[in-house]
Amino acid sequence: MDRDAYLERLGATTDEPADLFEHFEQRSFGGRTYHVLTDARHGLERGTVIVEDAETVIRGYPSIPRLLVLEPGIRSFFDDGATVAVEEKLDGFNVRIANVGEPLAFTRSGYVCPYTTARARKLLSLEAFFDEHPEKTLCAELIGPETPYTTTDYEGVDTHDFRVFGVRDRESGDPLSVADRRAICETYDFNQPRLFGRAPPDAAVETVRDAIDELDAAGREGVVMKSEAGDAMVKYTTEAQHHDELAYAFSLPFDHGRDFIFSRLLREAFQAAEFDEDGDRLQERAHDLGESILFPMVDAIRDVDDGETIGHRHTVRGDADSIDALFDHLRNQSMTIELESDRREDGQRIVEFVKVAESSRDRITHYLEGGTRTE
Ligand code: ATP
Repeated sequence: MDRDAYLERLGATTDEPADLFEHFEQRSFGGRTYHVLTDARHGLERGTVIVEDAETVIRGYPSIPRLLVLEPGIRSFFDDGATVAVEEKLDGFNVRIANVGEPLAFTRSGYVCPYTTARARKLLSLEAFFDEHPEKTLCAELIGPETPYTTTDYEGVDTHDFRVFGVRDRESGDPLSVADRRAICETYDFNQPRLFGRAPPDAAVETVRDAIDELDAAGREGVVMKSEAGDAMVKYTTEAQHHDELAYAFSLPFDHGRDFIFSRLLREAFQAAEFDEDGDRLQERAHDLGESILFPMVDAIRDVDDGETIGHRHTVRGDADSIDALFDHLRNQSMTIELESDRREDGQRIVEFVKVAESSRDRITHYLEGGTRTE
């Protein structure tokens, strides 16, 4: 690989190829080699990919900062005179689909996911899109109850589906404006997240508050606010999402970091303070928060005590080969997978499996057997 040439194409903030390329990892997919930036470095996003045989660079998806307070957060974040588009933030997983001779789906950290690639080829009109826009990347969320990474239910999505929330230049990562992206998605029949409205920063606070109330009541995740040009983005989430994520983390208490938990508690506290909650409302939030911490943890302890496998449960559905490839892919990432069922329906293979949470299982077993804990 000509590192000097790629350094220039990537536009990294270092002149020294070695400084950047020591953070790249070589991987392969379908006999093809690609190189992945494993951490954000020198102005480049984690998950940035170079596919050498196609001489192609695919920039990573940028990290989206979060607001803890809407007022004055939205005003401080966006320029005066900006128009803020308020879109739903969906809870699935991020995937970039780019054409490197064939369309491939890359996860946030830059793995080619064989399963998501097969599903994208099946569910999206990629050929038509890439014929017209070969140099673009589709940025999408795979959502629904049947995916290998997330399980959130969405009304009308029985298994899984893509929602396209960005169209970017493959090499520079520059986004299309919100309006252009929404128009392109309509042309190719790509589903996209709901747009709650557009407003100047001052007025956007109310648009977001209304959207958050509605989303919270429906148990949905939150919003991403975007400048109309698509280059500035910030996110904000619902109480329901904070509680769901805490329940998720505490269902496997020794597999999720303390930072994960503390950040969700901070979001709750700032939201409750800003929304002027007191009395019964604050009491209710505290109660729900406590339930999302204690119930899943007690369930996990009881499950281990009963000899059950604990971990995240998933169902996947697709053609047999892509499902085999998915399990190879997950096992290559050192995951312990237990299959719970494997059946066929309408020519598709449907597999239910658990990503075994070994740390939680082993630590809970240790304490249940009377082991001590050093604190
Ligand atoms: P970070 O963005 O800080 O790296 P993260 O990986 O934990 O954080 P999230 O907190 O889930 O990600 O938020 C960002 C992600 O939200 C995006 O990467 C994208 O996958 C997802 N997302 C869902 N809906 C949208 C949307 N409408 N616009 C942009 N991103 C969206």
